[in-house]
Amino acid sequence: MTPARPPGSDALGETLAYFRDLGVAELYLDGRFEEIEEEKKKISLKVKREAGGAPAGDAAAELQSLAFEVSSCVKCRLCKTRKQTVFADGSSSARIMFIGEAPGADEDAQGVPFVGRAGQLLTRMIEDGMGLPRSSVYIANVLKCRPPENRNPEPDEIASCRGYLERQIDLVKPEVLVALGKFAAHFLLETDEGITRLRGKWGSYRGIPVMPTLHPSYLLRQPAQKKEAWEDLLAVLTRLGIDAPARKGKQP
Ligand code: SF4
Repeated sequence: MTPARPPGSDALGETLAYFRDLGVAELYLDGRFEEIEEEKKKISLKVKREAGGAPAGDAAAELQSLAFEVSSCVKCRLCKTRKQTVFADGSSSARIMFIGEAPGADEDAQGVPFVGRAGQLLTRMIEDGMGLPRSSVYIANVLKCRPPENRNPEPDEIASCRGYLERQIDLVKPEVLVALGKFAAHFLLETDEGITRLRGKWGSYRGIPVMPTLHPSYLLRQPAQKKEAWEDLLAVLTRLGIDAPARKGKQP
């Protein structure tokens, strides 16, 4: 006689099969089964909506759809400690894409990348220094969820999350990528060299020029290094044929 299945095991099996079909190899359930069931329903609803919605090739709509998918991601342990995912900010047709490391406390609270003190410095560098509205560039992070206590990202977390950033880059198709700090530089350039050696030298990610530079949170601790970061951003403007505004084009 076949032993009776424990209550709920059919639903759990269906859920695991569902995520396996989406390409998710590991799940951090940790007693969150009901919550995940809710997330599953939300994704299904969205997939149905998208089926008659965004035309393929509409980057803005595809990014929106990806953001929705990311919002219920449970592919790594950070899903257990985040308040919310932090997908991106800016224009889907940006010429410049800035990539940082991971959300911090302010970003986790607001759901927008680079809005804390480091983010405010980055905004000044873009707007006052480069003379570009922040809304004209695209800003994202390697990880979409905040690591607890702002610790460094773990390699398995980066591996779990990397497909999202790769897709963002594919959709935005920026002319230049700016890697803010070592985690973004290592992600894009597949190296483990220190950022102080990498910065200021052009690299390449799938044919897109990459300028590695210092992370704004490092610049807050080491303001004397702002000059180097500013030189890197000037090199980006030069590469794109954009003149640094005469009045504003000074070190932020
Ligand atoms: S960090 Fe990335 S892979 Fe991990 S739960 Fe968040 S979105 Fe998913």
